[in-house]
Amino acid sequence: MYPDTRLHIDGAWTAGSTGFDEAVLNPATAAEIGRVAHATTADLDRALEAADRAFKTWRKVPAYDRSKLMRKAAGLLRERADNIARIMTLEQGKPLAEARAETMAAADIIEWFAEEARRAYGRIVPPRFAGTQQLVTREPVGPVAAFTPWNFPINQVVRKVSAALAAGCTIIVKGPEETPASCAELIRAYVDAGLPAGVVNLVYGVPAEISAYLIPHPVIRKISFTGSTAVGKQLAALAGQHMKLATMELGGHAPAIVFDDVDAGRVAKALAAQKFRNAGQVCVSPTRFLVHEAVADRFVDDFTQAAAALQVGNGLDDGVQMGPLANSRRVDAMEALVADALANGATLRTGGERIGNTGYFFKPTVLTGVPLSARIMSEEPFGPVVPVATFSDYDALIAEANRLPYGLAAYAYTSSARTAANLSADIESGMISINQGALALPEVPFGGIKDSGHGSEGGSEAIEAYLNTKFVAHNTAF
Ligand code: NAD
Repeated sequence: MYPDTRLHIDGAWTAGSTGFDEAVLNPATAAEIGRVAHATTADLDRALEAADRAFKTWRKVPAYDRSKLMRKAAGLLRERADNIARIMTLEQGKPLAEARAETMAAADIIEWFAEEARRAYGRIVPPRFAGTQQLVTREPVGPVAAFTPWNFPINQVVRKVSAALAAGCTIIVKGPEETPASCAELIRAYVDAGLPAGVVNLVYGVPAEISAYLIPHPVIRKISFTGSTAVGKQLAALAGQHMKLATMELGGHAPAIVFDDVDAGRVAKALAAQKFRNAGQVCVSPTRFLVHEAVADRFVDDFTQAAAALQVGNGLDDGVQMGPLANSRRVDAMEALVADALANGATLRTGGERIGNTGYFFKPTVLTGVPLSARIMSEEPFGPVVPVATFSDYDALIAEANRLPYGLAAYAYTSSARTAANLSADIESGMISINQGALALPEVPFGGIKDSGHGSEGGSEAIEAYLNTKFVAHNTAF
């Protein structure tokens, strides 16, 4: 029912040199459901050798053919979506519908990059001297090492793998040990589509050991990491020491701003649906609610009602809207953040505690009157806890929205076109979403600024990150 997860190295699935080292738990029950293999240095060496060898041929496969293989992988993912979604819910906890949507979205992402693969154009620059040609060409950067987390076991991987393959790079993925099997199903779709051996490799293990080995390795030319800002800074520093390209998709603490010119009840419902998706374990989740004081009472009442009405339970059960948190660390973190907010004088509107003592369930939680001294006003909650603060003055609002070193996503609701335009200029973030929620479409840029990282994982910018620019000057009259 739930498969043990193997490594994929040089075209073969393998339990690695030491076998299935780590248990995988179902967060709804805390019971062991399977095991995941760990890679040793010898396994990593084989993956590196394979990625290096495969790069020499994969980079020469015409983009048209790379694109065809990728579209086949997308088709396989769609065919297998029901089974993959079940695996994902078992290991990660999210409701089955969210797991299925993630799998289908991954197929869309693959297809978009498959198309974009064919548009890695160069250009011709007019020469100063007769008989000279000046070309700008694009080349794949080389073998990539990617590190991905447990909150979206497929979607955090698919953007990196698909952009890399589309550009003509090979890749070693260090997948999430806590949610390994659905990530492996994505790799399986690529392998079954006919990708040559060594083009995609999948490893698991002790994250710090694997990154410390792969990042400095001469075979690896680029790294891409999604995870916390603290870890991202360490890996970016290591990449810098070894002059490796790096894409960093890190934490955020997104302001969600509600002005007094909108229907606060309608916005409360929209933000509740967005906030509690994946139990709030989303890097672009709205996390610091800043509501105009004229509509704050209405907003808080309706939002609290929507939060309290959410059906929380095992993601496999019908009607469940929010599953457990992905691991026990998140429950501990929620308990600590809530206790700290209350000690700082906040008011608990709903939730505030774990549910039962089986699995990692936590109640959707709303806090008001949270002072800036409370940790949750500065630390990314990464869970189903919402602090709501009020504002009345635009300049003070902008100062608060931009107060933190993060700059990933921001949300705002207003009916004024002028306010919307001012906000889009004044908010310091990589993405801002006004009167809607969707940010992570394949065809648009996705990434942060400041401590939220650098580089984009969507849009044409995402493939750029896997391409070098080469200038070729040729005197044809020589
Ligand atoms: P963590 O900081 O220990 O790990 C975050 C991720 O980084 C995990 O996938 C982990 O395997 C990986 N990691 C950790 N150390 C590493 C290393 N030295 N080399 C390579 N990979 C390494 O925290 P956690 O408890 O797993 O998650 C909690 C925090 O992580 C959250 O508060 C959130 O800020 C962040 N997070 C962010 C995202 C995101 O989508 N940006 C996803 C998951 C977690």
